[in-house]
Amino acid sequence: MEAVIGISGNEMTIHRDGDATAFEINYSPRYFSQVISENQGVPIIIPITDIDYVNQYVSMIDGLLLAGGQDISPQFYGEEPRQNIGLTSLERDNFEIALLQEAIRQNKAILAVCRGMQLVNIVFGGNLYQDLSENPQVTLQHVQKSSPHNPTHSIEINPTSKLYQIVGQPDNNRIQVNSYHHQMIHQLGRELIATAYSMDQVIEAVESQNDQHDIIGVQWHPELLKNYPHSGSNLFSNLIERAKKVKLA
Ligand code: MN
Repeated sequence: MEAVIGISGNEMTIHRDGDATAFEINYSPRYFSQVISENQGVPIIIPITDIDYVNQYVSMIDGLLLAGGQDISPQFYGEEPRQNIGLTSLERDNFEIALLQEAIRQNKAILAVCRGMQLVNIVFGGNLYQDLSENPQVTLQHVQKSSPHNPTHSIEINPTSKLYQIVGQPDNNRIQVNSYHHQMIHQLGRELIATAYSMDQVIEAVESQNDQHDIIGVQWHPELLKNYPHSGSNLFSNLIERAKKVKLA
């Protein structure tokens, strides 16, 4: 049996041309399900639904992949929304926080991408800059205008981290990544360590310090960088390896 990877779903309202009806849909970017199945994992998409089902959903999976998307409602880190915050989804926040907490409780393998990494930080008591402009140290373009399939900025990875092993022990401790985030971690959550920084000191990766938990978070989008093997595409095969250990435990 292959490892089952639950991908946290998103919600969207779409309007078809010439059709006045609005459709509310559940969805997940295809890159995630593709990259999981290419690495011999079985992807399932978990819709935003009743929080009471979270325990059952997590029991069905070996690994959890938290995807990107909206900004997280600042109420979850005790702040009011400031001018530059983007779209938020309270339904998604509530469901995904419950899903993540349950996955942590059941010791599942967790990979958290972009918003996912920020969600992990908040669940462990950290907070965010609601917009990069709130941090005067930030000078680089983190919402890249170039193709999402090309890396644009470099990050420096802590050589003692799990991430360093996963990406293949990079030269000079640096790799190139893409960047699609207008928010960033401010205060780091307890039990987390920052394992990679951009050259302007944005936290670009975290992992759990406590070995009981198996969590890796990245601020960039490795699922879009298939043509760049040194930009973190191994994070998905690694998630499946970690999920297999969960299955056998
Ligand atoms: Mn970035």
